[in-house]
Amino acid sequence: MSKNKRGKALWRMPSRARGTCPICSSTRIKLLYTGKDANGGKLDVCKKCAGKTVSA
Ligand SMILES: [Zn+2]
Repeated sequence: MSKNKRGKALWRMPSRARGTCPICSSTRIKLLYTGKDANGGKLDVCKKCAGKTVSA
């Protein structure tokens, strides 16, 4: 499990690791980091939003 945020590993993921960040709403960004939703659950977020909690 080395470098699983880079390279071809991404292309094996659903949607190739890209999507819309639920926190900053950036589209087609890589969602490789973990944030928290309002209920304390885990959420896929972009690099900028790593560790943040979704508001509202
Ligand atoms: Zn974000």
